[in-house]
Parts: sequence; structure tokens; C-alpha cells
Amino acid sequence: MADLVVIGAGPVGSLLALTLARRGLSVDVYERRPDMRRVDIGAGRSINLAVSTRGLHALHEVGLDADVLREAVPMLGRMTHALDGKLALLRYGRSEKEFINSMSRGGLNKLLMTRAEESGRVRIHFEKKLVTYADDIASFEDGSRAEAPVIVGADGSASALRKAISAGVTEDYLTAGYKELTMPPGSGMHREALHIWPRRSFMLIALPNLDGSFTCTLFLAFEGSPSFAELETGSSARAFGEKYFPDAMPLIPDFADQLMSAPLGRMVTIRAWPWSRGSALLIGDAAHAIVPFFGQGMNAGFEDVTLLVQSLTGNWTADFAKFAEARRPDADAIADLAIENFVEMRDRIADPEFLKLREIEHQLQARMPDRYLTRYQIVTFTRLPYRIALEAGKIQYDILEELARTSDYDRGIELADERLLPLLRPEPIDGMRQSE
Ligand SMILES: Cc1cc2nc3c(=O)[nH]c(=O)nc-3n(C[C@H](O)[C@H](O)[C@H](O)COP(=O)(O)OP(=O)(O)OC[C@H]3O[C@@H](n4cnc5c(N)ncnc54)[C@H](O)[C@@H]3O)c2cc1C
Repeated sequence: MADLVVIGAGPVGSLLALTLARRGLSVDVYERRPDMRRVDIGAGRSINLAVSTRGLHALHEVGLDADVLREAVPMLGRMTHALDGKLALLRYGRSEKEFINSMSRGGLNKLLMTRAEESGRVRIHFEKKLVTYADDIASFEDGSRAEAPVIVGADGSASALRKAISAGVTEDYLTAGYKELTMPPGSGMHREALHIWPRRSFMLIALPNLDGSFTCTLFLAFEGSPSFAELETGSSARAFGEKYFPDAMPLIPDFADQLMSAPLGRMVTIRAWPWSRGSALLIGDAAHAIVPFFGQGMNAGFEDVTLLVQSLTGNWTADFAKFAEARRPDADAIADLAIENFVEMRDRIADPEFLKLREIEHQLQARMPDRYLTRYQIVTFTRLPYRIALEAGKIQYDILEELARTSDYDRGIELADERLLPLLRPEPIDGMRQSE
């Protein structure tokens, strides 16, 4: 029998298995789907995703950050596309050293599975869907069972292990869904950026792929106007694209067909508690699925792995309970931040008031470049707890509002030094790297 059982060979489960294997533990992983390295099953939900400092740090712990970055496209900022075609690039970091990385979800998942198996300590059992867990026994849909006195559920937002161990779960579905479209290579769009077409109640985004194509995602309400419900015919889909995305439409030759045939995804925030019962634990989306607008879901799950593994003492029950207690406030914080960022991306980045505050923040940061970090930078380029980013964001808002009224930057610096810096102090903010 292996030292522990992991349910789910998604990115988080595979990384956990690999990280534990590097610590000398043996792991049996049970995965519902067939092996995506042998069978073309698509890679689940979105095709590419953004990996940033928290995720890269966890990959660095198993020596994989350089391999992953080699396969990624850096995104230095967000490029907004106004309705009149005007472009504006807002840099993410304080310098060219700070960027996020667009990465193939399937490629990353396959790499993690392969490296986990190559460790010689991880066995992945495919087409094994957990249905129940009781009395240390995991039971699968095909009727097989496995002894699992120590078990970790990394089985995603619809976690079966969660149903078995967690009493309280809230699931908040957004009233908007998403569809993915492919923009083929040769579009001429700036490659090293995350593109956004903010249209108030909805938006289109595009992340670059290595082959020069972009994966575009349309986030739009299910019902109402405009909504996916209105886009059920080729002509309505075409008219919608022409009206709202006149510069993107011609770059996606079969826009209407793609839109009609793409599956419609739902987005949910899951808050579950408890995350652990005895020597059973939930991590990643199984414990805390969040909406994708901060690009942090997987990064947060990877950070779970770092924090969990570094706190293991050999007493699984105590370690799992301690990890869950310590991590929960940060999971709650990033869930709130992700929802706020939906409003910011689709709506506020086109709002002059918001842009004015961003400009003021830019000016303030220019006056204290080695001390000030924006909320986005705290989330994306540091490993400070997410709750600090949430708290810092509130303080920053007050300071920026005051600066908008007074333009008194000396006072702004004083306030930032007094109120913000003590929060950021644990992190050496000089020389922070994509991969530490
Ligand atoms: C549109 C979109 C864009 C996103 N963009 C980003 C981004 O840019 N950056 C980022 O960090 N995050 C992003 N995310 C979030 C990210 O996808 C998730 O947080 C991440 O996939 C969670 O990983 P996981 O391994 O916990 O769960 P999953 O990826 O859901 O993996 C769970 C695994 O468990 C398996 N499984 C499920 N049930 C069972 C069962 N009963 N028995 C056995 N196996 C089971 C599944 O088949 C799967 O392999 C995005 C999400 C969406 C929807």
C-alpha cells in the first residue's frame, strides 16, 4: 500500500504526487479520465492559462519551472481594445522582469504526470472515478476499491471526496458563462500581452499560444441582452461579433461557427468547510474553486501544495487540520478578489474614473518604486498571503481617493509608508523574480 492516495491527476493532484515523491513518499493517484497523453480527450476546461509567481515557485520546488517557462509565452501587460479599435497597453509589473506566462493547460498537466511517474514512487490509475469514501476505503465507479487511510482530494470543483468529508459547502454560480474560440496564427496581434475587449457587462479576452495562435474566451451572461441565449443562430452570432468586436472578428475567420459549436462553460465559487476530516484532506479546486478573473485558481492550488508539503510532520491528522485552518482565510480572500476582478476587467478598465485612479497609482509607485506594490502585483508577483492583498487593496483605495482629491503626493507617500508598508514587509520586494 502506498503512503497516501490522491484523487485526481489534474494539475494540482499531479504536482502534489510529484512533490511528495520527491520527499520520499509513495503515492497512488486515481484519475477519472483516461490518460490524456495517450487518448485525445481535450484538456478539460480552458485550453491555456496564466501561470505566475505562486505557481512557478511550486514548480521550482520540483525543478520544473524552467521547463514550464520554456513552453510559455510571457504576457507583459493587458492590452485593451476599445470599440473604436484604440489600443492601450497597461503593464502588469514594475519592470520587464515581472510578467505572467501563458501556458497550455494540457501540456502542463501531461508534464506533471510524466515527471510524477518517472519518480518511480507515483502510480496513476486512470479511468478510476471515486464515488464514495468511508472507513478508510475509496470506492470507484467500476466497483473496485482501494485502502486509503491517508487520502487527499484534488478532484476539482465537483469533488467526490468533498461530498464524503465536508459538511458545509456553498456554491455560487456566476450568471455569466464562457465559450472559447481559436484565433489562428498570423493575426498580427501583439503577442506578449493578454488582450481584453471590455464591453461593460461582458468581455472577450485572448491569451497567446506558442504557435502564434490565440485562445479567445467570451464571457457573457447566460440570459438577458446581450447573452448567450441570444446567440443561437449564425446570423445573430455574426451580428454580435461585428457590433462589439469589429477588430477581432476578421481575425477569427469562422467566428460564428466556432461560437455556435463551442461548449458553454459555467463558473463557480466554492467555499467548503471543513477541508479535512481525520487523515483526509481537500486541496485545489476541490476545497476552493474560484472564478478565473485573477488567473489564480491553479496558482492557488499549486501554492496549497507548497504550503502543505512544507508543514508535514508525519502526523497526517494534525498536519491536515493545521494546513486547512491556516490556508482558509487566503482561499476566501482570493475568491473575493477574483470576483472583484471580473467587474474590473469587463467594465472598470473602460471607465475614466478608474483609469484616473490607476494613473495616480502609477505616479505614486513611480515615487516609491522599491516600496509600493499594486494589489495585482501582490497577488501575481509575490507569495504574500492573499488576505494581505485584499487588505492592502482597501488601504490603497483610500490613499488613491485622497490623492485624487488633493494631488498631495508627499502625503500619499506618508500614508503608504505608514499603512501599507507594514503589511508588505515580510516579503523582500526587491529582486522578486518570476521564479524564486
Ligand atoms: C476559463 C478558465 C480559465 C482559467 N484560467 C486560469 C488561469 O489563467 N490561471 C490559473 O491559475 N487558473 C485558471 N483557471 C482555474 C484552474 O483551471 C483551476 O483552478 C485548476 O484547474 C484547478 O486544478 P485542480 O487540479 O484542483 O482541479 P481540476 O483541474 O479540475 O482537476 C481535477 C482532476 O480530478 C479528476 N476528477 C474529478 N472527479 C474525480 C473523481 N470523482 N474521481 C477521480 N478523479 C476525478 C478530473 O478528471 C481532473 O483530472 C481557469 C479556469 C477556467 C474555468
